[in-house]
Amino acid sequence: MTKRGQGSSCDWDITTRVIHSATGSGASAGPDGGTAVASPIWQTSTFEFRQPEDVAEAATAVQPETFYTRYGNPNFTAVQDAVTALERGEAALVTGSGMGAIMLVFLGLLKSGDHMIAQNCHYVGTMKALESWLPRNGIEITLVDQTDVAAFEAAIQPNTRLIFVETPVNPTLSLTDLGEVASLARERGITTCMDNTFATPINQRPLEHGIDLVIHSATKYLGGHSDVTAGVVVGGREHIDALWYALIIYGMISHPFEAWLLARGIQTLPFRVARQNSSALAAAGFLETHPNVERVYYPGLPSHPQHELAKRQMDGYGGMVVFELAGGFETARDFTARLKLARRAVSLGGTETLAVHAASMIHARLTPEQRAEAGISENLIRVSIGLEDPGDIIADFDQALRG
Ligand code: PLP
Repeated sequence: MTKRGQGSSCDWDITTRVIHSATGSGASAGPDGGTAVASPIWQTSTFEFRQPEDVAEAATAVQPETFYTRYGNPNFTAVQDAVTALERGEAALVTGSGMGAIMLVFLGLLKSGDHMIAQNCHYVGTMKALESWLPRNGIEITLVDQTDVAAFEAAIQPNTRLIFVETPVNPTLSLTDLGEVASLARERGITTCMDNTFATPINQRPLEHGIDLVIHSATKYLGGHSDVTAGVVVGGREHIDALWYALIIYGMISHPFEAWLLARGIQTLPFRVARQNSSALAAAGFLETHPNVERVYYPGLPSHPQHELAKRQMDGYGGMVVFELAGGFETARDFTARLKLARRAVSLGGTETLAVHAASMIHARLTPEQRAEAGISENLIRVSIGLEDPGDIIADFDQALRG
């Protein structure tokens, strides 16, 4: 059967394809033969075989859809098909969280004695994995300045197996040149993986720049409603099949209801991201001119040191805005307490605007020295722009900045 969103429908626009992939394969016929338009939740841990001859194929397949839910499930397929279409990949896996997706790539591709290159700054959970969990498993790590392509090249060793990048990075919004890093890795047979959580595939598609694998914390923009925890890995069929074998052994799987929520959220991703792009650009422009703001980091502003690179590799600049207030730790912390519309919470990518003071919230576990090394100043605020009216969001920042 040709699934909706595949085959002859490949020439559909991405907004059409993502809706018809995420609503499932049409396997959802009801008792009287009518088919549900909204996909059902396949809340089952296992699937019955009516015909003995069907067992052999499912029992030996990669990612069988209806065999045993740890191996696959129609709700997983819906997410995977939609993300594959969005990222222009060949196949994908849905995992229990963004960290699950990251650790699946690390543990699925690397073994003791291997070397990997990553950046000085990453999402804080990734940093912990790089600093302690991977080295304790005998994996050697070199961290480099992501803005310096030559530093990636200089760090390559004969046992380098993986280069892991994140751009724009959480939380400083520095960029990595995807095309340059991908080509120097390709020449040497090194696999590359990219955390595309902040940009989303609407704004940036790393596979098109030659990166091998893309991961997302789907908890963020893909889910889009702050009500699901999940991750995805997407890339070429060979890589994804190999990672599926690791996934079912490490057990980093998603669950049918989580995947169902995620597939529902993904259908509106292009529309949500378009609004977040334009509201974030407006908010960043407002903040840049405010006397109580020392500095704004937003890839869409000409003042971003890598704005030219952003224009080359991104189609939009995303919903995350980062800025430093005039003042120190307390000034920044108190600013978040005065916000009335924006909510003081970690996470991002939902319908509501969220604000965090990095030093007292996401990076509170780091010492001031470690924060300084990662480029996270004590007065840094990170905002995830939501879908509210942009004028209301800006007015809220304005009243909180006045003190
Ligand atoms: N990658 C990035 C860029 C993130 O911001 C996060 C979480 O904030 C993660 C990965 C981890 O995702 P999760 O919380 O879904 O495990």
